[in-house]
Amino acid sequence: MSTTFLNIAYIIAAIFFIFGIKMLGSADTARKGNLVSSLGMLLAIVVTLFQTGMDLTLIWIGLGIGAAIGIVWSKVVKMTGMPELVALFNGFGGLASVLVAWAGYQEFFDMGMSDSSVHPSFTAAVTSAAVWIGALTFSGSVIAWLKLSEKIAGSPAVLPMQRIVGLVLLLVSIGSAVVYSLYPDAGFAYELFLAVLIAGIVLGLVVVLPIGGGDMPVVISLLNSLSGLAASAAGFAIQNNVLIVAGCLVGCSGLILTMIMCKAMNRTLTHVLFSGFGGSKKGVSEAVEGEMKAASASDAYYVLEAARSVVIIPGYGMAVAQAQHTVKELGEILEENGAEVFYAIHPVAGRMPGHMNVLLAESDVPYEQLVEMDSINPRMPSVDVAIVIGANDVVNPAASDDPGSPIYGMPIIKAHEAQTVYALKRGQGAGFSGLVNKLYFLEKTRMLYGDAKETVASLVNEFKA
Ligand code: NDP
Repeated sequence: MSTTFLNIAYIIAAIFFIFGIKMLGSADTARKGNLVSSLGMLLAIVVTLFQTGMDLTLIWIGLGIGAAIGIVWSKVVKMTGMPELVALFNGFGGLASVLVAWAGYQEFFDMGMSDSSVHPSFTAAVTSAAVWIGALTFSGSVIAWLKLSEKIAGSPAVLPMQRIVGLVLLLVSIGSAVVYSLYPDAGFAYELFLAVLIAGIVLGLVVVLPIGGGDMPVVISLLNSLSGLAASAAGFAIQNNVLIVAGCLVGCSGLILTMIMCKAMNRTLTHVLFSGFGGSKKGVSEAVEGEMKAASASDAYYVLEAARSVVIIPGYGMAVAQAQHTVKELGEILEENGAEVFYAIHPVAGRMPGHMNVLLAESDVPYEQLVEMDSINPRMPSVDVAIVIGANDVVNPAASDDPGSPIYGMPIIKAHEAQTVYALKRGQGAGFSGLVNKLYFLEKTRMLYGDAKETVASLVNEFKA
């Protein structure tokens, strides 16, 4: 296969990627966009494999095993397990880049670094970048996966001397990569290469472990971006154009998402990354006094029946309960009853960016009824009823009025400003940040305990009866 043909196929694949990403921007075309990008990747893989001219038996076996695991996994994973699966996928992306760059290093080494069209120092530098970014993406993503799946606590873990350990690891990584790039054929080059790899793995752990709670969405988006940058660096290391392009697209879109998440959380990236290294504001959260007052679905019915404006605020609990279809039914009934109904969407509600939008789109809630936090907040004081469905951190007033709270400064949906609040939860469980929410203790708030889907269904039945 000629190089010209290969590059034309790569350009077509890149066009498919770009159109695919563009289509992901709207709920109507997102599914097709995914397919278009996948077709681009299929084309890139097929032409790359046939261009090598090597025996592909092992590759087919690997593809078969990988595809089988992927198909089974996608069938068994629950919707609530998606966020942690996405985190793990970022990690696998990083690991794949490490392996590709490592194989490239071996080939480059076996060739005695002489048979290469590019300068050995360049290859060594991009290989170091791919291995280092890929390794820290992998270990960081494994920690993110453990936190999101609640196998370890989601709150920040304070490590002894984390600032010093982090700095030493960074210096070891940069030092080893620089010396290896300057002397790629030295006798100790392999040891330097391994030092970059190991420092990357440990740094991923040291950076992500101290981050938790409200900062996790930023970390997940950043890891996603890093997995792309690692792939791009691996593309430079093995001189593969389509890998460079695909990696850059993932890296840049992940970076844009990271910036959006930072803005949503009112944090700077430096604060998120280094607060665990000593920069975070330490304080004592205010104690919450009073009691949470329970109500029944029939009590809530009388208030909702009279309500002229209702704002539904979904959170992670709605995803756990898979209540989105019943929630839509309740919304429609309230509208038929004469109320104006909106769904207030917090950018980090749930466990992955866009989590609530995906669930509500799945249940066909009209897009115009979804209102972003900044647009709904000024209207909250005139809202008759706010129905908080399995949301906790994103409606916690401590974020705006308790300087000692770990989530202080994070913008929230101001449910506490509505005239009446109904909060649907199973019990007294905390949110992802592990904090007590004083919204539930307010005089205007009533708790509707139970699984969100069952509670919403009871409200629907009250109206139907
Ligand atoms: P939270 O995790 O703060 O709260 C969810 C609440 O839902 C819990 O208090 C729980 O209480 C309740 N709940 C759980 N299951 C059910 C159920 N079946 N029925 C009814 N209620 C239920 O969710 P939020 O959406 O408010 O906030 C998201 C949090 O996750 C933020 O801290 C955010 O930073 C973080 N995060 C977000 C990511 C993203 O990209 N969106 C990624 C990583 C973290 P109880 O147990 O009493 O029922």
